[in-house]
Amino acid sequence: MGERMKFVVVGAGGVGKSALTIRFLQDKFVSEYDPTIEDTYRKTLTIDKKSVYLDILDTAGQEEYSSMRDTFYQNGDGFVIVYSLTSKESYEKVEEIIDSILRIKDADKYPMIVVGNKCDLIGKREISRKKVENDYKKNDITVLESSAKKNMNVHTIFEELVRSVRKSIKLQ
Ligand code: GDP
Ligand code: MG
Repeated sequence: MGERMKFVVVGAGGVGKSALTIRFLQDKFVSEYDPTIEDTYRKTLTIDKKSVYLDILDTAGQEEYSSMRDTFYQNGDGFVIVYSLTSKESYEKVEEIIDSILRIKDADKYPMIVVGNKCDLIGKREISRKKVENDYKKNDITVLESSAKKNMNVHTIFEELVRSVRKSIKLQ
């Protein structure tokens, strides 16, 4: 059997988790995706000449205070943590999410990528790229800005996370 990874896409409501997931899988932009739909998608891709089978869970937040969330976190091999760079509130959630993941994984590091989505909304920005780099880069967490709408950096998110998971496996 080939290499397999489970990714979990998490973040505040309305930041574009589903839009990014659908853009990655189907190369289209869905502007009105039901915010309550939580689904798993599968895709095989080749990264650095090696194929990998991805299992991607697009979460919808209902599990926020339940044991379901712990199960999601428990099962994930890598995490796409999304905020909207037009929402300070959604960015504040990133730290909480990271803390929960690390607590459940009982680790001080885990493959994850922090993604500021909606970078096409120039002029509505509330979070600077510099702030995010200062907050997270030192912890070896990849940070990126994306646009599901304009298809910017969407594939890079998943590629970089595959690389992070491979790197962490090598270090074990
Ligand atoms: P989720 O709740 O995190 O899954 O968010 P959705 O994917 O449902 O997106 C929430 C809203 O943000 C929708 O109205 C989308 O059209 C919009 N949206 C998502 N990604 C982008 C983006 O990259 N740019 C812009 N301008 N809007 C986006
Ligand atoms: Mg959604």
